[in-house]
Amino acid sequence: MILIVGGAGYIGSHVNKELNKRGYETVVFDNLSYGHEDFVKWGVFERGDLGSLDEIREVFSKYSIEAVMHFAAFTYVGESVEDPQKYYLNNLCNTLNLLQVMLEFSVKKFVFSSTCATYGNPIEIPITEEHPQDPINPYGKGKFMVEKVLEDYSRAYDLRYASLRYFNAAGADPDGEVGELHDPETHLIPLILDAAAGEREDIKIFGTDYDTPDGTCVRDYIHVTDLADAHIRALEYLKNGGASEFFNLGNGNGFSVREVIDVSRKVTGKTIKAVEDERRPGDPPVLVGSSKKAQEILGWKPEYADLHKIVETAWKWHQKKLK
Ligand code: UDP
Repeated sequence: MILIVGGAGYIGSHVNKELNKRGYETVVFDNLSYGHEDFVKWGVFERGDLGSLDEIREVFSKYSIEAVMHFAAFTYVGESVEDPQKYYLNNLCNTLNLLQVMLEFSVKKFVFSSTCATYGNPIEIPITEEHPQDPINPYGKGKFMVEKVLEDYSRAYDLRYASLRYFNAAGADPDGEVGELHDPETHLIPLILDAAAGEREDIKIFGTDYDTPDGTCVRDYIHVTDLADAHIRALEYLKNGGASEFFNLGNGNGFSVREVIDVSRKVTGKTIKAVEDERRPGDPPVLVGSSKKAQEILGWKPEYADLHKIVETAWKWHQKKLK
């Protein structure tokens, strides 16, 4: 069975769906601090916390675990600056707990959710895996530290991992079964859609004086179902004996905040009020990744490279979520 830690969350739930679609058996382990039990629509669910070695051991004793995918992490960059301990304890220490129990049970395949935040402020676009890593906030640093731990564990204990550095995860399951549901919501696309649905008055554009074509930040939005596909390919790569690797997962296209708002207006048919606002501290002007390595080694190719499609699936989910 495949253990999906954090499988009740946004990305984990999409991966769980995709794994089951392809005939894998899954166990979801999640403490539901941010996850949603009704997102666990496939496989079995075990509620538990990575802070407890015994709770992790229980799951490994109960099921025959072949590989682990780890999504359970806090993801608010701003909060990580305000309360770094919260981030290091969960994103770093609890990951060490998980790895400890994996080694106790000789489970040696690990797919890890890393992030483009491990690169810090880019000095070259598109960002490749060879770009220097110099994270600028505790969220990015914690993920970077786990990557370093993985390198050492891989060398010493024969653990093999695929560390997947996501760019901006976006969109929702095209069937509308699971989607993005954060509380509080801080991400651009769901907030724009809240404005489209009349749940908020407007969308604030954080910074209009960046050195980008229209002055607003450019990001690489990658559909969550494409991310899910990459995870399964990474798992299969490890099952086939692949060596430990880092992979960027983005679609290689950058879209500005204004472009995302324009596309959302077209998709929803709503007049979405946009208000120019101050820059948000810590936002690099452009983050666009090269996923050439994942394409070459994993044979991965994003299917939803078009922003229109990404927003369409997010809108479909958004309307369902409101019901
Ligand atoms: N953004 C914005 N208004 C918002 C939320 C986000 O202008 O209400 C911008 C943000 O500054 C960034 C981009 O949208 O340039 C994507 O932000 P998000 O928080 O979705 O993802 P991040 O890039 O921080 O991972």
